[in-house]
Amino acid sequence: MTLPKTTAELRALDAAHHLHPFSDTKALNAEGSRVIVKADGVWLTDSDGNRYLDGMSGLWCVNVGYGREEIADAVSKQLRELPYYNTFFKTTHTPAIELAAKLAELTPPQFNRVFFTGSGSESNDTVIRLVRRYWDIKEKPEKKVIISRRNAYHGSTVGAANLGGMAPMHAQNVAIPGVVHIAQPYWWGEARQGETPDEFGLRTAQALEATIDALGEDRIAAFIAEPIQGAGGVIVPPATYWPEIARICRERDILFVSDEVICGFGRTGKWFGCETFGTHPDLLVMAKGITSGYMPLGGVMVADRVVDVLLEGGDFNHGYTYSGHPAACAAALANLAIMQREKLVERVADDIGPYLKARWSTLAEHPLVGEAPMLGMVGALELTPDKAGRRKFPEVGKVGTLARDFSFKNGLVMRAVRDRLIIAPPLVLSHGEADELVARARKTLDDSWTELKRWGWV
Ligand code: PMP
Repeated sequence: MTLPKTTAELRALDAAHHLHPFSDTKALNAEGSRVIVKADGVWLTDSDGNRYLDGMSGLWCVNVGYGREEIADAVSKQLRELPYYNTFFKTTHTPAIELAAKLAELTPPQFNRVFFTGSGSESNDTVIRLVRRYWDIKEKPEKKVIISRRNAYHGSTVGAANLGGMAPMHAQNVAIPGVVHIAQPYWWGEARQGETPDEFGLRTAQALEATIDALGEDRIAAFIAEPIQGAGGVIVPPATYWPEIARICRERDILFVSDEVICGFGRTGKWFGCETFGTHPDLLVMAKGITSGYMPLGGVMVADRVVDVLLEGGDFNHGYTYSGHPAACAAALANLAIMQREKLVERVADDIGPYLKARWSTLAEHPLVGEAPMLGMVGALELTPDKAGRRKFPEVGKVGTLARDFSFKNGLVMRAVRDRLIIAPPLVLSHGEADELVARARKTLDDSWTELKRWGWV
């Protein structure tokens, strides 16, 4: 088949044959998809030659930036040597062994074992299987309920979507029993009038304790949370939140699962978000940044105290064809070697993270911006018609989409969640590119403001 050349031809084929994730495909086909053809560093190029600064690292994953020959070479070499073999039935292979050992070295000390998957969603389905298996082996089969949070994102398979707390997903989903959602630590959107972030953080964390008591500790298997909610809108919890959650998890007989699919691999300025926030998870969920998105791979790190129980339980009847895929593991090893050699995690903590935050924070002065949080290399802009009153726009999501579209026109990829713009740029962003990112974001805010004036919304 000869490939079509023009953007119009590519769009027509895409419209005819491709159902897009999380999209209104009919509306998308009418408008036409953006066709991305190549990328280098933090820059994307589309089929018309337009260049965009990728403020989202793809889908929060391209931590080391695009165009790393070293990862491509490692994958190519692995594909030639052993393109595939499974890790079932008493077999293993070198890339999976080496990566498992590497992950044991990089993750907090309680973790020495990994269960490989192909994605974040598969990892969270694995979490459901693992925690229920754990309590069964401990002869507490009634401990089945997993507590999660509203507006959490844990993936899109049936299990992971149910762990997540996204209302539009639940509206389209067949619910599985045993998942309960509590409040999220979203001060801007959900605090009472006059409630300080610290008061709100504490109150929201204590909802976990209240829910454990209401349902009965003997029924609760685990609590799962993202250190910073990503897809929910980059919700950075108030300082009081995580210490209180950590206390509750310590005192209660439940497992704590840290979903590090976004926060893992340097995003928050440490290797893992649980280290940034001082929590002590029993299970740590990973994907995305493990390979910087160059190959699909996920995993669940399992703490020794959980492994000790699982090892007494005989067969664990769970696994995927691509668990520990050799080429994906090779990509991860090359990616992690780059991160260590270039000290990218340290760079987020000491250099580009603080640099970007200082500049990003100035956007809070814009009349359209309610708050401009940033931690490590992940940030948000809450758009509001009234900062002081923390008021929302009349039709939720419309202003976010408007601003997101302006951002694309201005050559910057930001994502909109409700009326919140979010960024998570590659960890290799240079100072000059950070300046450029913030300049384009500011122009986006100005363009949106002008349009909203025209609408009479501000
Ligand atoms: N957990 C979190 C925190 C995520 O952000 C995501 C993806 N955005 C997932 C799980 C699901 O990962 P995947 O899309 O690889 O299945």
